[in-house]
Amino acid sequence: LNVDLASHIVRLGVGDGRLDPLHYAEVNHPILKDGVLQYALRIRVDQTERFDLFHIAIWEISLLLSVTAIFVVGVPAYLSAKSRKVADLADQRAHYLTAHDPLTGLDNRKRLIQKLENACSNTEKAEKLLLATIDVDGFREINDEAGHEVGDQLLTLFASTLKNTCGNSLSIARIGGDEYACVTPFTDRGKLQDFLEELQSALSISFQADGQKQLATASVGAAVYPTDAKDVPDLIKKAETALKVAKSAGGNKTAIFDQEMERGIAERRALESLIRHATKHHTFDVHFQPLICGAQMEVCSFEALVRLRDAAGQIVSPEKFIPIAEDMGIMEEFGAAILHKAARAAVHWPNHIRLAVNLSAVQFESGNIVKTVERVLKTTSLPANRLELEITESLLMQDTDGILSQLIGLKALGVSIAMDDFGTGYSSLGYLWKFPFDKIKIDRSFLRDEEVCCEETKQVISTIIALAHTLDMHVTAEGVESECHVAMLRQLNCDQMQGFYFGRPTPSYDLSKFWSPNNYIDRRLLAV
Ligand code: C2E
Ligand code: CA
Ligand code: CA
Repeated sequence: LNVDLASHIVRLGVGDGRLDPLHYAEVNHPILKDGVLQYALRIRVDQTERFDLFHIAIWEISLLLSVTAIFVVGVPAYLSAKSRKVADLADQRAHYLTAHDPLTGLDNRKRLIQKLENACSNTEKAEKLLLATIDVDGFREINDEAGHEVGDQLLTLFASTLKNTCGNSLSIARIGGDEYACVTPFTDRGKLQDFLEELQSALSISFQADGQKQLATASVGAAVYPTDAKDVPDLIKKAETALKVAKSAGGNKTAIFDQEMERGIAERRALESLIRHATKHHTFDVHFQPLICGAQMEVCSFEALVRLRDAAGQIVSPEKFIPIAEDMGIMEEFGAAILHKAARAAVHWPNHIRLAVNLSAVQFESGNIVKTVERVLKTTSLPANRLELEITESLLMQDTDGILSQLIGLKALGVSIAMDDFGTGYSSLGYLWKFPFDKIKIDRSFLRDEEVCCEETKQVISTIIALAHTLDMHVTAEGVESECHVAMLRQLNCDQMQGFYFGRPTPSYDLSKFWSPNNYIDRRLLAV
């Protein structure tokens, strides 16, 4: 129908008198009569309530969608941002750790080297660089005794002291467990010594351990670029060489590198490898020095004295290499090998001749000495009563209970114990009461020169002999070099004598001359 419906619409209103609903559905329906449009009926159905429900549903759905979107997109985005931040922090930390020491915040070795490389390539002609390496004295003991927490605190204290003392340094670094370094440019060599002394004294640090105040010190070794070294590795090596010298001088010392030190270190290294090799392959000799006993002046014992030859075939003094072997921590093994070699030789001597072997104090540290001696006696078949062990009083200055029980254990095996070098220590007499020694050996310094045959020395030796006899101990006088010594010692009733006058330390193959019928010992001595 081509009719404009809209013009026929009559507003009838709705039953309850309300106006059009806010939201409705609408339909226009034409009313025809005889095919002619009479009017149109527009029906509006109130959809407000539905619309509201629909609207709420839409709103809920969109809220749900938004929340889901937040979860699906936002949370991963948030998490990824967060993990990126964590990763960034970790990166920063890793980057920091590649250059710094985590405990003290100082530069680490790598950064120190980088800074040194830069500084060395930019050093002006007049300027020099000082590299000071610093090592805390006895840190391992402090750490073991006071605990790691105190150890860490102490390391931090050393770090802050270095920061305060080496204020304008190019780098202050921790380059090892208890080792630090500082690099300082300088122009005036005259001030170097003052700087190092100031550093050394600042590094005496008091700290608390077990409720007690203790003092920690450090050793300093220094080298100068370009005077002492041509490049950075060389400079570090030389500063560490100086440090080793400062440490081996007893610690709490400063040493500036000089060429002589390098020779000393090389010599020490050569000795260390000689000792290591000798211990492993038994490439050492034992020489034996006779001890003369009694009125008949007969050889009754030999003291075993170890000998090492260097690469040039020269004999190295045990006074030089024994302390190094002790330092190296190899003396227990070395000492056992010496004892074994000496005992193997002694079983071929006449039965009445005994063997004396020196024991170093460090051979008592592990608590195995009794077992070691027992094993040697067993494997060599040397009767225990033919073995005498010589110890020095320094042994008794340590943890005496542990030492005394081991000495008692040794005596229980049937060996005898002598106190060596008597008269050289601080309070020798005190130690004589601690343990029933079988013998004391008066140090050879008492007989150093001819003048000792003077009345005064005679009195001292006489007193020592009287004291030893009162305590039921025998006495050996060492360093007997002259007829005068022999006459004096015989007069004083000294039980045994040992010295170059009777015989020098002699290789095993040449010992029989001391007990052969044409006795090597000059019988005229009996008349002295
Ligand atoms: P020591 O135990 O006092 O040994 C005696 C040292 O005095 C020996 O030196 C000996 O050669 C030397 N001597 C002996 N008679 C005379 C003398 O009349 N005049 C002079 N001036 N010296 C004399 P050596 O063999 O050089 O040994 C030195 C030190 O090395 C020994 O002193 C001992 O403490 C140590 N030693 C030697 N061998 C061993 C060993 O196997 N184990 C241990 N732990 N220490 C040893
Ligand atoms: Ca000795
Ligand atoms: Ca001695």
